Amino acid sequence: MVGAGIVGASCAYFLTRAGVRVTVVDRGGVASGTTGAGEGNILVSDKEPGPELDLALRSNALWRDLDEQCGGFEWEPKGGLVVAETPEVLDALTAFAGGQRAGGVAAARVAPGDLRDFEPHLADGLAGGVHYPQDAQVQPMLAAARLLRASGARLVRTAVERFLVTGDRVTGVRTGEGDLRADAVVNAAGTWAGGFAQAPLPIRPRKGFILVTQPFADPPVRHKVYTAAYVTNVASDAEGLETSGVIESTRAGTVLIGASRQRVGHDTSIDYRVLAKLARQAIGLFPVLADRQVIRAYAGLRPYSPDHLPVIGPDHRLENLFHACGHEGAGIGLAPATAEMITAQITGAGPSVEPSPFAPGRFP
Ligand SMILES: Cc1cc2nc3c(=O)[nH]c(=O)nc-3n(C[C@H](O)[C@H](O)[C@H](O)COP(=O)(O)OP(=O)(O)OC[C@H]3O[C@@H](n4cnc5c(N)ncnc54)[C@H](O)[C@@H]3O)c2cc1C
Repeated sequence: MVGAGIVGASCAYFLTRAGVRVTVVDRGGVASGTTGAGEGNILVSDKEPGPELDLALRSNALWRDLDEQCGGFEWEPKGGLVVAETPEVLDALTAFAGGQRAGGVAAARVAPGDLRDFEPHLADGLAGGVHYPQDAQVQPMLAAARLLRASGARLVRTAVERFLVTGDRVTGVRTGEGDLRADAVVNAAGTWAGGFAQAPLPIRPRKGFILVTQPFADPPVRHKVYTAAYVTNVASDAEGLETSGVIESTRAGTVLIGASRQRVGHDTSIDYRVLAKLARQAIGLFPVLADRQVIRAYAGLRPYSPDHLPVIGPDHRLENLFHACGHEGAGIGLAPATAEMITAQITGAGPSVEPSPFAPGRFP
């Protein structure tokens, strides 16, 4: 397994439970990539009907059991609330939710006068929203660490330089510590998964910032709350900066504020103009946040795939190589169903979700 992020850790857990012996190789250690920069939302609310939603619904069901099986990682089935600033946006949200309901999502329109029953500190003047009770949250670094520990897999901390190939078969990996032989190699290297010369993939970094506030004794945000613009941003291919108000609290009492998206390569430098914009948007939704200081801000690189679907399955050029990468802004949410799919493909078991839309061979 190349990568000890949430995807690699989940794959290790599902594979070892199926009786496979797993070695995980990561150059930085557990959750040292994008997983350490994610918010940990397990969302169905932002996905349109189709393959990604099917994967998200399956993952949502798996996450519930994993929390108990692996010793807990702050699983919170808190639900999501998407808010609309205008009646027109509310109509569009309601139509979107109607399609999702047909795909298996629970979603209920919330009238403007009822918004404060869900979020007492929301700003005045919003046109209403949609409540998604299936949305949930985990602490992503803890989840990756607990899944990996529960798997019993061996963790080797070194860089993978390339895949070892004999004929058209992958037989292991070359690392800074020497060669590791394996019957199968899983590429769960996140944003960096496309960079192996023998089996390149079009995975690119998509940068995002998070602000973390001082902790509240009684956090003012109960759900994952975001504006309708977030759904549009997630689905967009734009390279330039896009932002939308995305807010939630954590068990520790802090409030996490996002979300920004821009494709600027591997640059993770802080841009205070973007941070200020995110803060303004958050205060616009929750005026109570204006009194709190931000204690931390950081950037992460989402593993963006050109068609917004993760890349899961056997490589189309080399035997014994499997990819589990390209989950962009949904890798925490989608990790368990991804791991279940990879495990079924390696062990020959039947899939829970149709794998063909995620096949690596869709890219030339
Ligand atoms: C600001 C922000 C907010 C987000 N919020 C959410 C959210 O709320 N919900 C959600 O579902 N997703 C969210 N995401 C997306 C999510 O964090 C990612 O989709 C997910 O973490 C990807 O996990 P991964 O295991 O594929 O990659 P990573 O966590 O990046 O793991 C890949 C690992 O591979 C290792 N690696 C890479 N190359 C090599 C090599 N050559 N040799 C050895 N090791 C190597 C890296 O060190 C890394 O540890 C967010 C992302 C960002 C940036």
